[in-house]
Amino acid sequence: LVKRMRPFTSTIFAEMSALAVEHDAVNLGQGFPDADGPESMLRAAQDAIARGANQYPPGPGIPELREAIAAQQLDDYGLVYDPDTQVLVTVGATEAIAGAVLGLVEPGREVVLIEPFYDAYAASVALAGAVRRTVSLVPDGDGFALDRDALAAAFGPNTAAVIVNTPHNPTGTVLTDADLAEIARLCVEHDVIAIADEVYEHLVFDGAVHRPLASFPGMAERTVRISGAAKTFHVTGWKVGWLSGPADLVRGARAAKQFLTFVGSGPFQPAVAHALRTEMDWVRDDAEALGRKRTRLSESLADAGFEVHRSEGTYFVCADPRPLGVTDGDAFCRDLPGRIGVAAVPVSAFVDDADPWRHLIRFAFAKDDDVIDEAARRLTRLS
Ligand code: PMP
Ligand code: GLN
Repeated sequence: LVKRMRPFTSTIFAEMSALAVEHDAVNLGQGFPDADGPESMLRAAQDAIARGANQYPPGPGIPELREAIAAQQLDDYGLVYDPDTQVLVTVGATEAIAGAVLGLVEPGREVVLIEPFYDAYAASVALAGAVRRTVSLVPDGDGFALDRDALAAAFGPNTAAVIVNTPHNPTGTVLTDADLAEIARLCVEHDVIAIADEVYEHLVFDGAVHRPLASFPGMAERTVRISGAAKTFHVTGWKVGWLSGPADLVRGARAAKQFLTFVGSGPFQPAVAHALRTEMDWVRDDAEALGRKRTRLSESLADAGFEVHRSEGTYFVCADPRPLGVTDGDAFCRDLPGRIGVAAVPVSAFVDDADPWRHLIRFAFAKDDDVIDEAARRLTRLS
């Protein structure tokens, strides 16, 4: 195994899901929903197979899907993308991240990550032979906030890109307009591109509004905006993601994508296009349901003795087990499936500097209510 990939031999999600299976635990670790997405979309994929959409689709994605992706961004945010040159369909958001980094960041250049960061960012930066610079979110009331001074200090002459994830996995933080404006200002000042991972764009709660980084001044021409079907339409196994941005940046990502996977899977693309055109009401209802599940699980965790952080979006809520006498979140998560039959993920898996994050645990709430309630019952055994 090459040196640059040695830290990446297994993912925390796979490890914790394996423990969940071994112990027949309620799996609140890996972020996948219990319920599959809208009926009409599931049928559209079956119809596509039946009518023969089973050979290589076009490299950048079928036109119908690229058009639907562009139309959704215009409708929701007023962002204008040409479906032919400014949209690329990828194999999940994961490939969009890898393609953007591999296609747009030279070896040795720096990529700024906001910590805790989704694990694929560090791995993609390593694959590209680039160097990551991390800036930690800081506790702020019952949530987390960007440390804007620390962020500014991380940008320098060797910075090629910043990866920004909002709504944020694992904390459930939605970055404020002021945070995004400051990120935009730094990108423009240092002539840096932004890779905006917005896969949870629709999953915000309590009237919160998602604002794409690309909509901030100076950012449309320097932002690769990433989203996908996995979380929006509850089909994490379909692996349909996409990126949008200025044609020169999309060309870079596309060059890399061609030799990672060549094309994405054929029959899912018309189904996702159909869903983007006709199932956004389903998504809005889902966001409301997820907000209630967030509250349900947060209250259960509080009842079980955790200090619970505010989650404003995503599938996730973070909880502090120190009131239960637990300080090592990683050891706790490895023990939890066997001990009480619940799986969760330690936030320390998403950071370089574990110290401020060592205790924290991420729980996924995109689950049936009775699954959340069963986990809640088991969690009461901790105290
Ligand atoms: N980015 C973030 C922040 C995620 O949570 C995930 C997991 N859905 C991904 C990217 C990867 O998405 P996909 O499953 O579409 O590859
Ligand atoms: N994105 C999901 C999560 O954060 C899982 C992705 C994975 O298993 N790699 O849990």
